[in-house]
Amino acid sequence: MTAPSTPAAVLHDVFGHAGFQGNQQAIIDRTLAGGHSLVLMPTGGGKSLCYQLPALLLDGMTVVLSPLIALMKDQVDALTRRGIDATFINSSLSKEQRQARYAAIAAGQYQLLYITPERFQNADFRAVITQRQVSLLAIDEAHCVSQWGHDFRPDYTRVGEIRQLLGSPPTLALTATATRTVQQDIIRQLGLSPDAMPLFHEGIDRPNLTLAVEEVWGEDDKLRQLLNILPPTAATGTTAGSHIVYFTLIKTLERFSGLLEAEGRPHGVYHGSLNARERKRMQEAFLSGNQPLVLATNAFGMGIDKPDIRTVTHAEVPGSLESYYQEIGRAGRDGRPSTCTLLYDQHDLPMLMEFIRWANPDADFYRRVHHALEHDLERINAFGTDWLNEQLLGRRARHDHRLESALLMLERHGTIARGRPAAGGRQQLQLLGDLPASLADADTLAAKLRRDQEKLLAMVEYARWDGDRKQFLADYFLGRQAEEPTE
Ligand code: ADP
Ligand code: MG
Repeated sequence: MTAPSTPAAVLHDVFGHAGFQGNQQAIIDRTLAGGHSLVLMPTGGGKSLCYQLPALLLDGMTVVLSPLIALMKDQVDALTRRGIDATFINSSLSKEQRQARYAAIAAGQYQLLYITPERFQNADFRAVITQRQVSLLAIDEAHCVSQWGHDFRPDYTRVGEIRQLLGSPPTLALTATATRTVQQDIIRQLGLSPDAMPLFHEGIDRPNLTLAVEEVWGEDDKLRQLLNILPPTAATGTTAGSHIVYFTLIKTLERFSGLLEAEGRPHGVYHGSLNARERKRMQEAFLSGNQPLVLATNAFGMGIDKPDIRTVTHAEVPGSLESYYQEIGRAGRDGRPSTCTLLYDQHDLPMLMEFIRWANPDADFYRRVHHALEHDLERINAFGTDWLNEQLLGRRARHDHRLESALLMLERHGTIARGRPAAGGRQQLQLLGDLPASLADADTLAAKLRRDQEKLLAMVEYARWDGDRKQFLADYFLGRQAEEPTE
């Protein structure tokens, strides 16, 4: 007879960790007792363990919803290496592989199953999954449920339905960033209440970061401030750590690159107009310390895990505190003092407001894009989307980015697919369906536009705040819990 296992024993014996981190233990205890939790933990904080460990102690199966097909296999491989009975089902599998896994589910295999929410559209899958007792539902990257979040995934809005279909099991929603609005949205969409799904977070303060704002007037002033912030040693790349200066526009970035060069400050540049090889080279030079100063757009960041970034400076105001917080989060991972400065020039605001308009095409624009895809797809694929943009907008096309936004949203809704271009060939678009109702509805689109404007407003309020900036961020992301209204 084996002794009943405890979380501590499983942590040690199966996962090989010496102890729990942060809130892990409290979350796991609550989960094992059948409670729901909303978990806010920074990337790398150990969110996975919060559902992987209970999965091994609970009787039935644990279903993990994940938007990231690319990461599912890695996670499942890591689990199987530890001898855990886990698998994933997604579109990367062949039909035969999928059928085999459906059969295994029906036969009672797997303690952990990773799937995308889209899978629930499949009747065969629904038929097998409903035969199983699901004892835990984990929703990874839970901020994707909210269209106010930064990575909205339309299929994530079905989480409530999915949860019901699975018999309303205890539920964990996990994310690294969610504002208060997004947190409320997650709980509401799951059909739960804030009382039933308490928030676990460890605060968002990074004690070693100093947050500063410098108000500047025009580009000369901006350059002067920038030269004050960057240590002269960055020029010779010695012991002063690494430095990132973020820009919103590639055009501004390039202008400042010229200005810094004239000042004798060597640096690298990183933005979306460079090709993949140049970007990779720059990232490697930065990570190795050979290039300690990089001027970048927000394309620079994914996978930047460098411990000694001493300054992160925003030379242009970012569009939201969510992006700002994420970008300054790269500073000071080694725990040593680091400074994050926002160079606030109110002249940057009109451009940002224009960005927001581009990011939010109206219903008429969506209708025209969809119409063009329906009737002119062959020519669009032959001549490219720049050509389509000109058809839609005429001479204004060059400075208008609405088409990019519209195509991105259509892709996320599964209305179009973009084929991988053959070497040197054009990207091929495929039309898969009608215009989704939410992209045809003026009210929904207007509400989204308003949200984006409010986010920029919060960013501006932060810039002009003369109180405690860290408190401002904590209020924005975590809310004053005591004052939290219940719905
Ligand atoms: P997140 O999903 O929050 O970004 P992960 O769940 O992927 O983070 O965990 C990040 C890393 O931390 C993993 O390598 C994991 O093995 C490790 N980890 C998690 N919990 C613990 C713990 N209690 N002790 C030591 N390492 C841990
Ligand atoms: Mg994770």
